[in-house]
Amino acid sequence: MSESTSRPSVTVLGLGPMGRALAAAFLDAGVRTTVWNRTPGRDGELVARGAVAAASPEEAVAAAPLTVVCVVNYDASDAVLRRAAVTTALKGRTVVNLSADTPGRARDTADWAARHGVRYLDGAIMTPTPTIGTADAVFLHSGPADLYEEHRPVLAALGGTHTHLGEDAGRAAAYDIALLDIFWTAMAGYTHALALARAEGVTGAELAPFAHGIAAILPPLFTEFAADADAGTYSGELNPVTSAVSTMAHVVHASEAHGIDASVMRVVEGQARRVIALGHGTDGYTRVAELIARR
Ligand code: NDP
Repeated sequence: MSESTSRPSVTVLGLGPMGRALAAAFLDAGVRTTVWNRTPGRDGELVARGAVAAASPEEAVAAAPLTVVCVVNYDASDAVLRRAAVTTALKGRTVVNLSADTPGRARDTADWAARHGVRYLDGAIMTPTPTIGTADAVFLHSGPADLYEEHRPVLAALGGTHTHLGEDAGRAAAYDIALLDIFWTAMAGYTHALALARAEGVTGAELAPFAHGIAAILPPLFTEFAADADAGTYSGELNPVTSAVSTMAHVVHASEAHGIDASVMRVVEGQARRVIALGHGTDGYTRVAELIARR
């Protein structure tokens, strides 16, 4: 068997920090890797390590049975995949779209792929670039199970854990946006805490070990509240929202006394007060999940 037939091959479209990390992991695993990026010149290091630089996206996708796309969002992946020449070259081949966007955009892309004879898996990357190719990487996938199984050996070159979440193409993005929701609101709280602590003469380094302690409280709470939310009960036995709301007000008052914008915590406090006003004061703060959902 010649080298070209015995070695698996892949194409990576998009060479931002994440696309470059994906391509590097494929190369490290011995996968024949063809790369392309809209702006030329981002492939230097990869080519030095053995990647093949394609002159166009259609040439790139024609080089392998599997194309991994990793660009900023689905406007960008549409701009590449839906060029007529690229769509034609993709017919009968597989695309795994690891760009981030909404579940709706993922489903729309799966519909487009089905209409054009392109085999399609959607996916999401839940960990930063340094994890790619290591045991710490986390990938979520959705779309046809048989297609996932077929390409799983090559995707495994990216390291870490790969989880197939189901046939609905939007499911990986659904997890992604829910997890990003946690991440960015947590980061909003953390950056606000840095400003508030600094105004009180506490440095970020002084706060950090105790911030770690707060973060460590959360995983068991996530498990406990998930069961509550799935059951539609929001027990406030250990911390009723009537008690929690007063600690939220302290953050607002202390911030505003320093001239620090407290709008995020004001929203949180307002949600808690609405829960109480609706007669759920003995419930926990997580009752808000019911309050904000459109019925
Ligand atoms: P970016 O999100 O900044 O994406 C940059 C890539 O998108 C470049 O290849 C860029 O090409 C391309 N791009 C942007 N607009 C277009 C367009 N209209 N047409 C074609 N290509 C376009 O950087 P990352 O590489 O870090 O992220 C890629 C994806 O991975 C994103 O969806 C991101 O959310 C996701 N991700 C990233 C993580 C990270 O740690 N970086 C972690 C988890 C997920 P050009 O060079 O020509 O501008």
